[in-house]
Amino acid sequence: MSEEHFIVIGNGPAGHNAAVTLRLEAPGARITLISKEPHGCYRPHLLPNWIAGDIKEEALYVCPVENYKNMAIKLRSGQKVVALNLGQSELILDHKEVLRFSGLVIAVGGKPRIPEPLLTFKDLMLTLKTLEDARTWKDEIARVDSVLMMGGDLTSLAVTKALLSLGKKVHFMINEDAFWPLRWNPVLFEEMSHRLSQKGVEVLADQRMKGIKRKGERDYEIQIGRQTVRVGMIGAFFGLTPDVRFLAGSGLRLDRGILVDEYLNTGFKGVYATGDCAQIYYPALRDYWVSVGHDNAVELGRTAALNLVGNTVKAEAAGKCIFEVQGIKVNTSWWTEF
Ligand SMILES: Cc1cc2nc3c(=O)[nH]c(=O)nc-3n(C[C@H](O)[C@H](O)[C@H](O)COP(=O)(O)OP(=O)(O)OC[C@H]3O[C@@H](n4cnc5c(N)ncnc54)[C@H](O)[C@@H]3O)c2cc1C
Repeated sequence: MSEEHFIVIGNGPAGHNAAVTLRLEAPGARITLISKEPHGCYRPHLLPNWIAGDIKEEALYVCPVENYKNMAIKLRSGQKVVALNLGQSELILDHKEVLRFSGLVIAVGGKPRIPEPLLTFKDLMLTLKTLEDARTWKDEIARVDSVLMMGGDLTSLAVTKALLSLGKKVHFMINEDAFWPLRWNPVLFEEMSHRLSQKGVEVLADQRMKGIKRKGERDYEIQIGRQTVRVGMIGAFFGLTPDVRFLAGSGLRLDRGILVDEYLNTGFKGVYATGDCAQIYYPALRDYWVSVGHDNAVELGRTAALNLVGNTVKAEAAGKCIFEVQGIKVNTSWWTEF
């Protein structure tokens, strides 16, 4: 009989916990953990604190890289999965290597979302998703006095806090498209504007961006409504969206994320999707929900691994925690204070 080989794609909170759970539940199996990022698992929610200089880089990591070796988990960092061949139980890496698996957990998370009308300006804006993004923010911030924050998602508030603590001037352009994963409503909008203004942020509420002129290196002139704002950097914070484009054509059912049943199974034997990239069926709603948030990701990663080794654990969510944003049902374990 051939050896069991479980592969986990993604080393965020969901993938890391899936791999560790697999190790505990299947001591004899071969386990491979693949991440396109060049390091071990870190805590994305601490990136704003690192940007602010409140914590050291080491505090971001969940464990030292050597731990994977000690747990007999083969970590393939800096390697990107570009395609899946489910018929052959194979995946293909960007350097064309093919890996065979007997069980698979897909935990590829999300990527920053930029609303359609702003796509033209994408290259002029910085987003914040990965440790490398945070490194860029740290380098750039040191060279500018002012930043325009566009959006209004939970990360934008944490980053604004970091910028203020570093003594930067912050302009904040909020509109109703920017509250992901919160539900937009006028009360929230008013409260957020009020709190930001109280902290010295210049709020540009409910305005449309008309254009950006690059006047020089780290010097942007932005036309917003009737106002002109001049800043050294522009940040875009419109939430995260599942990063599943590379799975088109794989046979997996894709919608906003990878469609899975309440046990996180994709419909293919031994193939699970979990964390922020999954869109999970919830029988009580007769609909699917997407997950956002660190604690959900940890729990869902564990659940996928347990089911891969033969358990039947449901991805639990309380119906009242699932709400609708822009037509998508969302379950978030994320909260923030500003
Ligand atoms: C700046 C920031 C602040 C946040 N703050 C909070 C907070 O305060 N509270 C909270 O609850 N949540 C917060 N979140 C959200 C939380 O971090 C996510 O919900 C959580 O990380 C999701 O975990 P995940 O494992 O599903 O996906 P991710 O963390 O996105 O991990 C995905 C992994 O997959 C890898 N990957 C992707 N595609 C491929 C591929 N094709 N091949 C190989 N590897 C691939 C990536 O490199 C990464 O390792 C924050 C997120 C960010 C970015």
